[in-house]
Amino acid sequence: MIEENVKKLLASLEGGNCFHEPVTLVAATKTRSPEEINRAIAAGLSDIGENKVQEFCEKFDLVKGGNRHFIGHLQTNKVKYLIGKTCLIHSVDRDELAEEIAKRSLAAGTITNILVQINIGCEETKGGYPLEEGLGVALALAKTPGLCLNGFMAMLPISEDEGYLGGLCEKMRRLYEEAKAQIPTIRYLSMGMSGDYRLCLSHGSNMIRLGTAIFGERDYSR
Ligand SMILES: *Cc1c(COP(=O)(O)O)cnc(C)c1O
Repeated sequence: MIEENVKKLLASLEGGNCFHEPVTLVAATKTRSPEEINRAIAAGLSDIGENKVQEFCEKFDLVKGGNRHFIGHLQTNKVKYLIGKTCLIHSVDRDELAEEIAKRSLAAGTITNILVQINIGCEETKGGYPLEEGLGVALALAKTPGLCLNGFMAMLPISEDEGYLGGLCEKMRRLYEEAKAQIPTIRYLSMGMSGDYRLCLSHGSNMIRLGTAIFGERDYSR
């Protein structure tokens, strides 16, 4: 099942997004066992993302291969466990977090790839900078030693209104392009989960984070 899902998804992404740009599939692996994750990797999956630092660390050596993303809310005091171990932190949602990642990266003699998280639906329950602040934050972080700014991440709100959601995607794509014109390291717009990734790809996302579509429904009791 997992193997089949990965193969089908990768095949469906071969043509890229609406601009024919390559799309990176990141498996959202929260609650999944190392064995399940390894099956997905063996089926061709290249990138995996964890939400919690504890899970990231516990599974780190048990998972074989895969670029390791961090996609969940990140507490400042846990940054140290990720430095040097992650290919991309998607969830940089506040200045103190960016500063801590920069400081720890410099101390470790490394550079950490990051995305700026935007709260595109203006939801109180979600982290991220307001859309209007995105460009300013990006320009500042692009100049911060220890960080390499790779782009933006957003989570769409829950809504049945595809016109509304498509509009939000387009706002994100506009921000991405504006920033990319000034910051050469920008290359990722991480937007799209199992329920909305097709919509996101049709509006210019080039990195999607899928859990359920790969592994099935999550069981949080595990
Ligand atoms: C869990 C999670 C996903 C994937 O969710 P699905 O709906 O299962 O695809 C994507 N992004 C983040 C940040 C997540 O926490």
